[in-house]
Amino acid sequence: MSTSLVPMLELKTVYQSFLLESGRNLKVLDNINLSLYENEVLVLLGPSGSGKSTCLRLMAGLIEPTHGKVLSHNEPLEDVNDEVSLVFQSFALLPWLNVVDNVALGLKPLGLPQEEMEQNVKKAIDLVGLEGFEEAYPKELSGGMKQRVGFARALVMQRPILCLDEPFSALDILTAETLRKEILNLWLTRKTAIKSIVLITHNIAEAVSMGSRILVMGANPGQIRYTIRNELPYPRDEKTASVKALVGIIRDVLTESIIPDAPEWVPPALQGTGFEAPPNVNMTEVVGFLEVVLEDGGRADAFTLAQKLTKDSLNILLMAKAAELMDFVDTPKNQIVLTDLGKAFVKADVNQRKRMIHEGLMQLKLTQQFYQRILNSEGGAMGRDEAIQTIHEWLPNENPEDVFDTLVQWGRYGELFGYNDDNKEVYIDSGEV
Ligand code: ADP
Ligand code: MG
Repeated sequence: MSTSLVPMLELKTVYQSFLLESGRNLKVLDNINLSLYENEVLVLLGPSGSGKSTCLRLMAGLIEPTHGKVLSHNEPLEDVNDEVSLVFQSFALLPWLNVVDNVALGLKPLGLPQEEMEQNVKKAIDLVGLEGFEEAYPKELSGGMKQRVGFARALVMQRPILCLDEPFSALDILTAETLRKEILNLWLTRKTAIKSIVLITHNIAEAVSMGSRILVMGANPGQIRYTIRNELPYPRDEKTASVKALVGIIRDVLTESIIPDAPEWVPPALQGTGFEAPPNVNMTEVVGFLEVVLEDGGRADAFTLAQKLTKDSLNILLMAKAAELMDFVDTPKNQIVLTDLGKAFVKADVNQRKRMIHEGLMQLKLTQQFYQRILNSEGGAMGRDEAIQTIHEWLPNENPEDVFDTLVQWGRYGELFGYNDDNKEVYIDSGEV
């Protein structure tokens, strides 16, 4: 099979910012360079907020980069990329159309002869195993069948680049596994127009089973941290040593990027000035997570724990990070180890726990300063907009609305501050803990 050396699609020194409601810019992508060649499955793997979907939208020509270039076969992409078809996590089917009409939707504007259109739709429906469901409406279909319609809708366009934005993550484990295999086979057997696939995921096993090249992304701002070639033959069996080794490497890279052993180097002049961003996790869940670590003898491997709890492993790493910020755990490599404080916390009653969270938050620079700002505001309350503005100044690379939501949720848990959604004010919790 001949493969062109010119990339089908390229992002070149791409920077992306978005204008927030507050009028400020959020830097979402930082110097992204990536190329998509013929005959590959390029995986973008990373935590939520690392700019994966933004990369895909750039590749599809749905948005233009703030800086840098998007090239299609070495030429600047001027418009929507007509080589790309897209499948999303949310199936985005039109409920009032049956399967045939949902699949045909994207073809309609092309003005093909009726007969050709019907043939193409029939072929796409056959390829994804939806025969017999042609007349069904979305509400009659299971999640897996809905996503098959999603894939058929992409395949019917007969485009060379299939872009997949977490298409398996809303499905149950078995359905996801079946569909992954089928899509991979469609690509391997060249039964369709698809030359290459771009797959977005936060699932490490999925990245390793499908990807021929895996780009591991980091967040705030989104960046490519590591590139891994994966030349293992398909189909890949997760029980083999070579697959396990690759999974191990990726786990280490992600762990190092979320809960690093060595802190990132900061110039001496800036030391102590920075704020640590709170990972976007629910404090109630963090508490449950700490309970499980204690049950496991006070020490657990992050990825074993993720499997045991059937949780996403990136989510577990973020919980570990939150617990680490409160000094409840240490995180040597992939291990999560309860500290004495952490053990005392898990063994404490509800009120003691609240007090310990309260104290933990008061030692975190961000929550402490946020608390001070509210305290110093008139009436001990601050409007949401002002709060978000403040957070943006402190953490310019974070999504300030997400950080605000996390702070409010943590603050409520530790009875530090509360939030009134009616007047959109965050206020000091005066109830003594
Ligand atoms: P991922 O797919 O890796 O979760 P996204 O590309 O969806 O990441 O988003 C990266 C960041 O950019 C997030 O903080 C998100 O809230 C922000 N973002 C994405 N699109 C917009 C937009 N149109 N306006 C403002 N912020 C956006
Ligand atoms: Mg996304």
